[in-house]
Amino acid sequence: PSDRPWFKYWPSKLPKTLDYPEVPLFNIIEVSSQRYPNKIAVIYYGNRITYRELWESIIRFSSFLSNELKVKKGDRIAIFMPNSVQWIIAYFGILRANAILVPINPLLAEDEINYILRDSGSVGVVTLSSYLSKVIKAKENSQVKWVIAGRFKDYLPEQPEIRVHPLMQREPELSGDAIYWKETLRNNYNPPPVEVNAEDIAVIPYTSGTTGVPKGCVHTHSTIWPTVLGSVVWNMLTPSAVVLSSLPIFHVTGFVHSVNAPLYTGSTMVLLSIWDREAALDAIEKYKVTHWTNISTMVVDLLATPGIEKRDLSSLILVGGGGAPMPEAVAKRLKELTGLDYVEGYGLTETMSQTHVNPPQRPKLQCLGIPHFGVDALIIDPSTGEVLPPNREGEIVVRCPSLFKGYWNKEEETRKSFITVNGLEYFRTGDLGYMDEEGYFFIMDRIKRMINRAGYKVWPTKVENKLYQHPAVLEACVVATPDPRTNEEVKAYIVLKSEYKGKITAEEIREWCKQHMSAYEYPRVIEFVDSLPKSGSGKILWRVLQEKEKGITNK
Ligand code: AMP
Repeated sequence: PSDRPWFKYWPSKLPKTLDYPEVPLFNIIEVSSQRYPNKIAVIYYGNRITYRELWESIIRFSSFLSNELKVKKGDRIAIFMPNSVQWIIAYFGILRANAILVPINPLLAEDEINYILRDSGSVGVVTLSSYLSKVIKAKENSQVKWVIAGRFKDYLPEQPEIRVHPLMQREPELSGDAIYWKETLRNNYNPPPVEVNAEDIAVIPYTSGTTGVPKGCVHTHSTIWPTVLGSVVWNMLTPSAVVLSSLPIFHVTGFVHSVNAPLYTGSTMVLLSIWDREAALDAIEKYKVTHWTNISTMVVDLLATPGIEKRDLSSLILVGGGGAPMPEAVAKRLKELTGLDYVEGYGLTETMSQTHVNPPQRPKLQCLGIPHFGVDALIIDPSTGEVLPPNREGEIVVRCPSLFKGYWNKEEETRKSFITVNGLEYFRTGDLGYMDEEGYFFIMDRIKRMINRAGYKVWPTKVENKLYQHPAVLEACVVATPDPRTNEEVKAYIVLKSEYKGKITAEEIREWCKQHMSAYEYPRVIEFVDSLPKSGSGKILWRVLQEKEKGITNK
C-alpha cells in the first residue's frame, strides 16, 4: 500500500511475508542432523562438531534432564555462561526436555542473577566452572535445585587453531557443588516424549526497562521462528555459508543470527567464547568466514587492528548487525577494505531481534533499515498516539510476528508497553525516530532512560541506586558520554557528602563501583560536582546533564 513506501525497496526476489513452521524450535537441529549428518555444525577454536554429534549430545542431555533430574514440561532452566558448545547443547536439550530456557548475561553481578533466578522460578542452572562460585552464591533463596557445570576445556582441542583468550586458559577446576557436564552426556539415549507445541513458551530472555528492574520477555517457539527464518532469507544463508558467531548468544541478536539461523540452514558456525579481535581475524582467514552478524563496536575494534590492510577479508559476503548505531566513518572504512556495505538492523529483546533491516543491495548509512518480513511499523506522537507523516520525529511502534507475549508475571508493565492505533495494538519501543519518504527508519534518541554501552544496555536508575549505597555519595546522576570504542560510556555525576569532600578520589569510587556492579555497567567516568540540576519539584534533571554531555564532545 502507498502508506508503506518501503515495499519498493525490498530485495527484489524476496516475498513480503514468510510462512513459519508450526513445530518446536529443536526441529531446527533435528532436521539438519538428518539432512547434513556429517557436516560440521560448529567449529570451536579448531574442534569440529558434526550435526549428528550435536544432535546426539542434545538428546543425551535432554534424557539426563528428564530421567535423572525429573525436569518436566514448563520448568524454567537458566543458562549462565559465555558462548560455548555446552550453551548450544543445553539450549536445545532444555527445549527437547519440554522445558523453558532462561538465558542470563554472563557479565551480570550476583544480586542480579539472583533476581532473575527467583523471578523466573528457575529449577536449575547450566554453567561453566569459571562461573560456578558466582552461581552457587546467586542461587540463595531461589528455587534452584541443581547446577550443571562444564569447562571450556571440555570442547577445546589440545592445540587450538586460533587464539584462545587468556581468560579461558585460567579456568578453575570444578568443585563438588555441581553435576559435571560430562555426566549429563553419559546418559542412555532415552529422550522424553515431546509434549510441547509451537505455541508453548520456549525462551524467557531478560531485559531491563525504564524502571531498571529486569523483566522476562516471554517468547514462544512461534515468536522465535519468524526472525530466524527472516535472517536466513534476508542474509541469503546457504549450507555453504560459514558464519562467525562472535556475538554473545544469550542475547537475542546472537541467539537468532549466530546460532539458530546458521544451524537451520546447515551452515557452519565458527563460535568464539569471548570477543577478541585477533581470534576473530584468525577465524575469518582460516575458515573463510562468509557471514558475520555483529554489534557495530566489534567492527570498530576489528578495523582498528594494526596492519588490517594486509589481512585477508575477501571471503566475507555479508557484514551487518544492530543493537547500536554504526559510526559512518567505520562503515566507509569497511567498504574500502572489503567492498561491502554494512547492513544495519534494529530490534529489541521484546521483538526477538530484528524488526528493521537495511536491504543489502540498497542500504543507507546510520539507518535502521526498512521493516522486516511481516512487520508493520509506524511513527507516532508519544503523547497523543497520532500517526505522524514521513520526516516527523516520534516514537517507533511495531506489530510483528516475532512480538513477545508479554513480560513474565508483570501484567501492568505489559499493558503499559502497548498502544492502540487505528484499532490495532502496537508495541511501544521507547525509541524516538523518524521515517523518510522511502520508508527507511532512523533513530534519533530514546524516550526510555538507557545507555547503550557497546550494545550492552545499562539502566542509569539501577547504577544510581547502587551508587547511593556508597557512604560518601550524597547525590548521583548517571548519563551516557560519547566514546569512540564503546559508542556510549557510563558516566556518573556525583555530589559528595560534605564530610567526604577532598577525602575521597574519583578513582576510589570507580574501584568500588567495579566491585559492586556488573562488568559492563559500572561507571568508567566519574565527575564530582557541587550540585545537580533540579526541577521545581526537586527532581534531578538527568536530561540536562545528558544533553550537556553530548554537547561537550560535539564542539
Ligand atoms: P535490547 O532489548 O537489549 O536488544 O535493546 C534494544 C534497544 O537497542 C532498542 O530499543 C534501541 O534503543 C537499541 N538499538 C537496537 N538497534 C539499534 C541500532 N541499530 N541503532 C541504535 N540503537 C539500537
